[in-house]
Amino acid sequence: MDSGLTQYWFYLEPYVFLFKGKGHVLVYNSLNGFYLKCEEDILLDHVLLKLLEPDSGYCIRLDSGLLGNETVKLFVAQIRNSFSGDLADCKSVGVRPFIFKPKLKVLPEASLKHLKEDDVFSGRNIMKNLNEVTLFLNSSCDRNCRSCSGYSRQFDCCLNSGRGEMPWERCFNLLLDIENSGVRKVNFSGGNLLAYTHWRQLLSGVEKFSFKKKFYIHIENLEPLLERFDAFDVLLPDVRVIIPVWNLEACSDECAGMIKSYKMDMDFVVSSENDVACLNFFVDRFGIDSSKVHLNLFYDGHNKSFFEKNVYTSLSDITDYVVDKNSIFRRQTLNEYFYGKLIILPDGDTYANLNHPCIGNVFLQSLKQMVYAEMKQGKSWFYTRDRGKCKGCSNKYLCPSPSNYELVMRKMDLCSIL
Ligand code: SF4
Ligand code: SF4
Repeated sequence: MDSGLTQYWFYLEPYVFLFKGKGHVLVYNSLNGFYLKCEEDILLDHVLLKLLEPDSGYCIRLDSGLLGNETVKLFVAQIRNSFSGDLADCKSVGVRPFIFKPKLKVLPEASLKHLKEDDVFSGRNIMKNLNEVTLFLNSSCDRNCRSCSGYSRQFDCCLNSGRGEMPWERCFNLLLDIENSGVRKVNFSGGNLLAYTHWRQLLSGVEKFSFKKKFYIHIENLEPLLERFDAFDVLLPDVRVIIPVWNLEACSDECAGMIKSYKMDMDFVVSSENDVACLNFFVDRFGIDSSKVHLNLFYDGHNKSFFEKNVYTSLSDITDYVVDKNSIFRRQTLNEYFYGKLIILPDGDTYANLNHPCIGNVFLQSLKQMVYAEMKQGKSWFYTRDRGKCKGCSNKYLCPSPSNYELVMRKMDLCSIL
């Protein structure tokens, strides 16, 4: 019997995501950033739940009766106006359109689940997952920075790890292995890297490798030697000078001038608004090129409000930028900050992240085994927001991956949204 109601196909575009949250569904258009939080409503929930069904084909039948409901009508209008979907009269479009929902098909994690170690070593190239290696070559350093063990858990820095010094032969073999694995970037750090017994061999040895190199040296260790030009001219552009802002006094006018003229990158460490003001003063005073200035925020356990203001994600951080489909897929699968990175201490102990347990020892096992260990059982590369307070949040794939700050502060939801 004809009900007298007109029937429509209502569909969403394949680049539109539906994320379920507590008491709402979030519609997100990954092409233009349209963000719509749909609060609970009996009729609208009926529409959204049908669209969310796995076999909905992102298209459902709506009749003019349901479309007459104010909430549903407004929702459909918002979807159409934002180019996130459309309505089509069933009479003119006889066959139901089938739209492929945005869905990641291959998860590296899942693809490894049934993989045995033998398969990996009999040919499967897992080394393409490794992009960056940080080598701590020595641990000796006679500075006594108050937060030495804390910095490198939050950003790239030097560390007095108390693990001795990496023998040159081991270091060189490791570099060969790293080069042959196609790794794109290697960071060298200490202790006081300039006190590495094999510093000169390192300088001449690394030249033959094609990977990008960065040398992390603390300003207090660098300044006394800056004038010895010959020790540095090979690598000056590759040096990252670590300058905690409270060490600016150690950075004399002469030293600042040299760093500037050598065009070295400066990694300033700040932990308060006052530090930021000091840094701005310093940069202005010496006319330092801002592209050479990098900021590392340091959480010292007492500066939560500084982090709330400068690190926490706000709703506008999400809605002011478009998060594209690939970024969403990436965040569903892996950690954007940690994935593809390994850290090796002077004694060979290897970590995917210094905030997580050691995954093995690269002097006792191969680099390939380290990569395999992290991909199979590690805690870092696949550390997504599918945990803690973020797990049930509809923004979990729009927010950036958890960083070291979440790990150090032991708080997953570093945001001002909930
Ligand atoms: S200079 Fe670097 S390694 Fe030395 S104590 Fe300071 S943070 Fe630690
Ligand atoms: S940080 Fe976590 S809880 Fe906060 S908005 Fe992002 S996903 Fe949600």
